[in-house]
Amino acid sequence: MALQMSSNRVYTFISSFIRESSNAKDPEALLLSLIKIVQKLVNCKWVAILDKNLMVRKSDTDDISIEENLHQMIKWSAEKMSPTSVIQDDLTVLIFPLVKTDRVLGVLLAATDEEPVFEIFELIRTLAFLSGVVLENLELYQSLEKQHAIVEETMNYMQQIFNSFPQMVVVLNSQLNAVFANLQYLEHERESKLVETIQKTASAVLTTGVRQVNEVESQGIFYSLIAERVEYEGQSQVLISITDVTNTKELERLKAIDKLKTDFVASVSHELRTPLAAIKAYSETLLASLSDLDKDTLNDFLQIVYKESLHLESLLDELLDFAKIEQRALTLEKTEFDLTELIKEVTQSMVEFARSKNVQLECETNEPIVIFADRKRIRQVLINLLSNGIKYCREDADDRFVKVSAKIDNKSVIISVSDNGVGIPQEYQQKVFEKFFRVGSALDYRVEGAGIGLTITKEIVELHGGKIWLQSTVNEGSVFYVQLPVGE
Ligand code: ADP
Repeated sequence: MALQMSSNRVYTFISSFIRESSNAKDPEALLLSLIKIVQKLVNCKWVAILDKNLMVRKSDTDDISIEENLHQMIKWSAEKMSPTSVIQDDLTVLIFPLVKTDRVLGVLLAATDEEPVFEIFELIRTLAFLSGVVLENLELYQSLEKQHAIVEETMNYMQQIFNSFPQMVVVLNSQLNAVFANLQYLEHERESKLVETIQKTASAVLTTGVRQVNEVESQGIFYSLIAERVEYEGQSQVLISITDVTNTKELERLKAIDKLKTDFVASVSHELRTPLAAIKAYSETLLASLSDLDKDTLNDFLQIVYKESLHLESLLDELLDFAKIEQRALTLEKTEFDLTELIKEVTQSMVEFARSKNVQLECETNEPIVIFADRKRIRQVLINLLSNGIKYCREDADDRFVKVSAKIDNKSVIISVSDNGVGIPQEYQQKVFEKFFRVGSALDYRVEGAGIGLTITKEIVELHGGKIWLQSTVNEGSVFYVQLPVGE
């Protein structure tokens, strides 16, 4: 090796090292190039590179000895970040710390039996400096790659967790585009109504910033949506989880029906027991003291037994009609008749009942209205509406009334039954037509009834191709309207 170097040679060495180091894919390749170039510059017994803990990281031979004195000098050189040399076993060991902005990334050691000239020493120092810069970049790149792999693994892990959720999960950005979704969401066919609700819920979260809970029924499936705001990179997004709650809903519905049925059985038993108890008590008295009773008392007792058996009969008829409705077996026998006459007949038959409740029963129809319908069933409708008007009167009102009227409206007739009774709260006004439904509990209610009268009434009206609806105000009264076609 020449003791002195031309500046051309120095330039060639540096540029070839820069080329090699810039091609290095990892720190190990860079260190290997450094060792090789040092070997070319100085006739070395061995060249080694230590890591930042001063342990041998790479070398051209395994036969390296670092004695205590050398070790101390290496430490000193690393601390001072300054190259130096030291004699060990007749060899000069050149020590160059690999430094990058105040950090020692390693140390280059070259053991030679010929002391290099100043230019070569300076050249190796430059190469060590360049290596420090490249080494840091390569190590940074490696750690970034590692971090990237960790982030990717974490993302996969989270995705797997979200995929294992039974519900759909989606994150929407402020433009309402999906930026994350689990498999359930991606694989689920989302038709317009569900998509619309998702977007509406997300918009509400973005504008109010408050968690939203929503429900939607789409193609027979009930979904529950819970939406929360999440922040990502300074942007507001919305995390929505969507659960299919059809089974829960069905269960709730079945439970409600089950409860209604239990209440129904209880109230029907109660309804049947009342007339039955009266019949039993009066017939027992008749049997026990028939010979002692005078004719008038006997007549009164038998009237009661008869009236109660009629009551029992009408209850059983109502139950049978209800059973027919359930089996879709209710049929009509239509004839032509005068509705006004029927209303008068029914009003007349209920006068007694109305009087017992202190209710004034008024028929406001006089003109004949001939309709084609099932007279017996329309009679049933009128009886149900009138008896409800009487039953649900207001105890505290002294001018209690129930009024019934009918008038022709185009090709149909509208019957109205109005009362000034207890009224029906707004939220129950549709429910009263549902089977078993009673405002208040069936058992604690002081008014008799099984909660199926209006169900039967509605069915009869609809079988005729008509409509039933109501207007009501609590504590003021109710009006039930029935619209029926006049002709066939
Ligand atoms: P019920 O046998 O209980 O009378 P209905 O089916 O005829 O059964 O009526 C259902 C419920 O609707 C009643 O329990 C009562 O709470 C309410 N209702 C019906 N008609 C009236 C009315 N005219 N005024 C107030 N409430 C009424």
